[in-house]
Amino acid sequence: MGGGRRRGDAWHVVGLLLLLVLVGGGLVATDGADIRPVTVEVMEAGPGVGNGPLLLRFDLPAQQAQAMPWAVWVPRIPRHAVWLEADGWSSTERDFFAPRRAEGVLPGGYVFLLPRAWEGPVELQLHARSAPDAHLQPRVMATVEVARLEQAAAVGSAVIYASLLMLALLSLSLYTAARDRAFLTLFACASALALMLAGLNGHLYGLPGLRVLAHWREPGQWALVFLFLATWVRLLQQYVGTPGGGARVVRAIEFAFWAMLVLAGLCLAGLAFPALPLRVLAVGCSLLAGAGSVQLLADAVRRRVAMAWPLLLLSGLLLVVAIAWVLGLPGPAHLPGPLLTRFLGQGALVLVLTSCAVGLLHRISEYREQRDRDHKARIESERRMLREAARTELVNALQSKLRQVGQGEVAWQGFQIMATHLLPLLPVSELVVVADGYHGNSLLLVEPAGSHDAAVADLRDRLLVLRRQAGAGLALQQPLGAGADVLTEALIPLKLRAPAWGALLLRQEGRQGLAPDEMALASEFCRTTQMQVDQAIAAIQLRQSAELDALTGSLNRRSVDQWLVRSFAEADRDGLSLSVLFVDLDRFKLINDRYGHAAGDHCLRSVAGALAAALQEGDIFGRYGGEEFVAILPGHSGAAARQVGERLREAVERLVIEWEGKPLRLTVSVGVATRRDGERTPQATIDRADKALYAAKRAGRNCVHVAPAVFA
Ligand code: GH3
Ligand code: MG
Ligand code: MG
Repeated sequence: MGGGRRRGDAWHVVGLLLLLVLVGGGLVATDGADIRPVTVEVMEAGPGVGNGPLLLRFDLPAQQAQAMPWAVWVPRIPRHAVWLEADGWSSTERDFFAPRRAEGVLPGGYVFLLPRAWEGPVELQLHARSAPDAHLQPRVMATVEVARLEQAAAVGSAVIYASLLMLALLSLSLYTAARDRAFLTLFACASALALMLAGLNGHLYGLPGLRVLAHWREPGQWALVFLFLATWVRLLQQYVGTPGGGARVVRAIEFAFWAMLVLAGLCLAGLAFPALPLRVLAVGCSLLAGAGSVQLLADAVRRRVAMAWPLLLLSGLLLVVAIAWVLGLPGPAHLPGPLLTRFLGQGALVLVLTSCAVGLLHRISEYREQRDRDHKARIESERRMLREAARTELVNALQSKLRQVGQGEVAWQGFQIMATHLLPLLPVSELVVVADGYHGNSLLLVEPAGSHDAAVADLRDRLLVLRRQAGAGLALQQPLGAGADVLTEALIPLKLRAPAWGALLLRQEGRQGLAPDEMALASEFCRTTQMQVDQAIAAIQLRQSAELDALTGSLNRRSVDQWLVRSFAEADRDGLSLSVLFVDLDRFKLINDRYGHAAGDHCLRSVAGALAAALQEGDIFGRYGGEEFVAILPGHSGAAARQVGERLREAVERLVIEWEGKPLRLTVSVGVATRRDGERTPQATIDRADKALYAAKRAGRNCVHVAPAVFA
C-alpha cells in the first residue's frame, strides 16, 4: 500500500509543479517590448521627510501624436502612500490602505501616467511615506504594457482567491461529512490565508465590507499573518499526527499556536508596536514556522504520512521564496519580479493547502477501509459465534433425543436433528442423507420431506456413482441438470466402515455452490452427528447386554428379579392381581446328551422365541437360569394365568425344531402362582410357583399346575 501511495504522491508533485510552471510562465509571458530600462538611486533624506525618495532615471523615445502615454508602474507593497515628483510636475498620492475605484478590483501595482509631452532623458523622484524602499522595482512602460501587466495580476489574484474559497467550502462540507476536526482547521486556515493574501496584496481595503480593516493599517496585516500562521501550525499538527520527537515537539507546536494567536490579538488590540520590530517579528515567525514545517514534514515523510512529501517539497519552495523576498533579491531585470515572486509564493501557499486537503481525503478513505475491515471482522465473528452456538445446540439435541429412541431409529433421528440444525445455516434448498449398511440399516432422509419420491427416483439412477464418489472420501461439488434450472450439489461423504457407505447431499439452485467454510461446517455436522449416533447405539447395546440374556435375547435373571420386585410393588400399590409362571423344559438333559450342547443351545433359543411370541404386550418374559424361564403377568388372576400357561405349553408342544436336518420336539412343564393380598415382595409367590412346577413335573410333565391359595 505504501508503494501505491508513493506513486500517487509522485503524480501529485508532477501536477503541482506543472501548475506552478504554468502560473510562472503566464506571468513571464506578460513581458513586453515597450519597457524602458530604469536606473534607481536612493536619495539623501531631506529635512522633515521620513525617508529618502528614490531617484528614477530613464529615456523616453520621441512620441507619435496618437501614441498612448508612458506610465510608471510601482508594485503594490504595503507603503502608506506613494507619489512621483519631477520639476514642475507631481502625481497624485496613492495610499495602499485606501485604493481608488479607478485602480480596478484587483490591482497589482500603482500606475502613474506620465505627461504625453515628455521625451528624451527623464528624472523622477519616487516618494514613499514608509520604510526604506530597496524592494521597490518601479517600471517605466507603455500603457498597453501596463494594462497587460495589471490584467495578469488581476487574473493571478482571482485564481488564488477562487481556489481558496473553493478549498474553504470543500473543507466545510468534508467536515460535515467526515466529522474530522482537521477539516474544520483546514477551513479556518484557507479562510485566514485568503484574508492574509488579500491584505498583503492590498485588495482587502477596496472591498466595501472590509474597508474598515484599513483602520489597523500595517499591524492589521501582521495580525492576519499571525492568524494564518497559527491556523497553519494547528493544521500541520493535526495532519502529521504525533511527530518523531514525541511530546516535546507537540508541546512546541502547541506553544507556537498560542503564541501566534496572542501576537495576532496584540496587533489587533492596537497596541502601539513600533513598525520595524513588529515587521521583523512577523517575518521571523514566518521563517521559523516555515522551517518547522519543513522539519515536521520531513519526519512525516519518514513515517509515510499521505501526501507528506509533496507538502515537504512545496514548503521548502515557499521557504526559499520567503527568504528571497526577505533578502530583497530581485527577479531577472526585464521581468515583473515582484509579481512573479508574489504569485509564485501565493500560488505555492494555495497548493500547500490543497495538498493538505488531498492528504486528508486519503485519510477518509483509510478510515473507510478500516471501518469496512472492522465491519467484515464483526460479521465474521458473529457468524462464528452463531455456528459455535449451532454446534453446541446440535450436540445437546442429539444427546438428549437419541437416548429416548430405540436402536433401529437412532441413525434416522440423529440425521433428522442434524438437518434441522444445519439447514438454517446454509443457503441450501434440499438436503439428502443416504447411508447404506450404517449400523445394519439403510437410511434415506430427505428434507424437505415433499421431495422424497423425486429424491428416491434420482438416487436410484446415480447410486453407483454416488457410492464411488463417497468412497473416495473427499467432499466435492458438482452441477446437476442444465440450463435455467441447474442445481449445484455438494457431496459430503460419511466416514463409514466398508462395506457400509453414505453421503450427505446438499442441493442449491444456480451454479454458485457452497463456500469452503460452509462445506467444512456441513462436514463437521456430519462427523458430530455420526459420533453421537454411534455413541447412542453403543450405549443401547451396553444396556441391553446388561439386561438381556446373551443366548436367548430375553431378559436375564437379574432383570427378571428387578421386574418381579417392581411388579409386586406396583400391584400392591394399585391393588391389582399378578401372576408368575415358571416354565421348565422337560428332560432337556437328554437333548444335550443325544445331540450335543450346541443343539441344546439352539433348542433353548427356539423355545424362548416361541414362548415370547405366545405372550402379550405388557407381559414380562425372561430366562431364569439353565432351561427354566419365567413369565410375569400383571393383571392376571390364577384362572387367567392358567390359560396363559396352557398357551405357552401348547406353543412349545407344537414347535418343531430343526437340527441338522432332523426335527426335534420338546415339551415344557409350567407352574403358576398368583400374588396374594398384602404381598409386597415376590419371594412367597416365587416359592409357590416353583412348587407348582415341581408338582407339574411329578404329574408327568407337559402340563400346567396352579399353586393353591395356600400351598400345603
Ligand atoms: P426335568 O427338568 O424334566 O426333570 O429333566 P431335565 O433333564 O431337564 O433335568 P434338569 O433340570 O436336572 O437338567 C437340566 C439340564 O439342562 C442340565 C443341563 O445339561 C441343561 N442345561 C442347562 N443350561 C443349559 C444351557 O445353557 N445350554 C445347554 N445346552 N444345556 C443346558
Ligand atoms: Mg428340565
Ligand atoms: Mg430345570
